[in-house]
Amino acid sequence: MKDRDTRDIIDIAIIGGGAAGLMCGCIAGRKGGGALNIVIFERNAKTGKKLLATGNGRCNLSNAAVSESSYFADKPASLKENNFHVLDYEAIKSLFKELGLMLKTDSCGRAYPQSGSASSVLDVLRDNLLRFGVTERTEEYIRSIKKEDGRFSVKSDSGEYAARRVILACGSCASPVFGSDGSGFALARSLGHSITPLFPSLAPIFVRENLRSVKGVRCDCRITLKSKSSGDIIAEEAGELQINEDNISGICVFNLSGYVNRAFALKQSPPQISLDLLPEISGRELSSFILKRVFSSPDTPLELLLTGVMNKKLGAFITKSVLNVSPSLSCGNMSKQELLKLSSAIKAFTLTPEKISDFKKAQVTAGGISCDEIDFGSMESKIVEGLYLVGEAVDVSAACGGFNLHWAWSSAVYAAENAASRCYDVKN
Ligand SMILES: Cc1cc2nc3c(=O)[nH]c(=O)nc-3n(C[C@H](O)[C@H](O)[C@H](O)COP(=O)(O)OP(=O)(O)OC[C@H]3O[C@@H](n4cnc5c(N)ncnc54)[C@H](O)[C@@H]3O)c2cc1C
Repeated sequence: MKDRDTRDIIDIAIIGGGAAGLMCGCIAGRKGGGALNIVIFERNAKTGKKLLATGNGRCNLSNAAVSESSYFADKPASLKENNFHVLDYEAIKSLFKELGLMLKTDSCGRAYPQSGSASSVLDVLRDNLLRFGVTERTEEYIRSIKKEDGRFSVKSDSGEYAARRVILACGSCASPVFGSDGSGFALARSLGHSITPLFPSLAPIFVRENLRSVKGVRCDCRITLKSKSSGDIIAEEAGELQINEDNISGICVFNLSGYVNRAFALKQSPPQISLDLLPEISGRELSSFILKRVFSSPDTPLELLLTGVMNKKLGAFITKSVLNVSPSLSCGNMSKQELLKLSSAIKAFTLTPEKISDFKKAQVTAGGISCDEIDFGSMESKIVEGLYLVGEAVDVSAACGGFNLHWAWSSAVYAAENAASRCYDVKN
């Protein structure tokens, strides 16, 4: 492979060396058979920093159940209207196999690298970049992209580069510690694109209630979001709830956080949160259990009344919040009505969202470059010819489970295939 001088015109400049950018490099490099001058510009000292942190270091990189309906956009109809589509799981699995990575799925369909380690995903991607002669230029923070006379001028603090095609793979605003700080949106705007409202998704939900006494408690839960005005159910999730001092988290909470954050971002009234803290026990069974227990053991202090069915701290917290009496009081002092109120509260404990989540703690940003301005067959911009938009920078997001990385790979494949074949056409 001949050494290339990046002062030469770059065939494909990829801005961002995260999941989408690295995959773009592999696919374009392979498609061009090593003959194209492809450069990945990454602001960090190394590419793939976020990738290493995904799935708690295990990288949940796809999902066997993925389909177009796994994804959301600002306007729900815009995905269908713009012919949005993703590669299916088998296609991603075989692609990774070709690149040298075997995948495995768990009982919920979540896909991971066979090695169980995110670092092997990064190793395999970078090995393919090397194989196809793709250059990684790290510590290059791209500050501006302009298109003049049919060519792009890409400027960083250390240089200016001419490129035939540009793939914008800068990610979003979520977890800026890994490098994606929202600068990609400014670049897209400067090229004429519009950005739909941005808000943190897959993030903890901050609540008004003081949860200090139950901080650290984890329990199975069904969590329901209800409209404050109509009481209608907006969305529901089940899973492990994690309680922190001023917020709740866990996958079930993450998957609902977008609804709450969207309301705050658009200055609308946020939904009410209702927790069923004993989802496997019916309301009738629970109230009967509580009444019988009080009848048979009236001297038991209230703080111990629920210890046989739930975490002791959590039981005491609910009892105190609902009955507002001393926890050392014997439960026999409570009326039947009060005990039934306690039972109902365990099945529908209300929390009030307090404020929008912090992007720093979010795994994903909802919103992004408008779907109306992208050709989803090629991921090429409908506004600037030769500009491609991929990954989380686009207004496409999904729940936990490997869907967001799947989108990064899938959009990268469409963009890189198209960009490389068109460069190749020009060269021949
Ligand atoms: C802690 C955590 C865990 C996650 N776990 C999972 C998981 O298990 N499964 C899943 O599906 N999703 C997961 N996600 C979400 C997933 O990581 C992202 O959706 C995905 O990485 C998006 O890929 P991307 O390439 O579009 O953006 P990113 O991965 O964010 O990459 C963008 C890259 O561009 C660089 N960049 C940005 N601006 C510039 C600029 N101006 N110039 C140069 N470089 C720039 C950034 O430094 C970064 O390296 C997780 C996210 C986090 C934060």
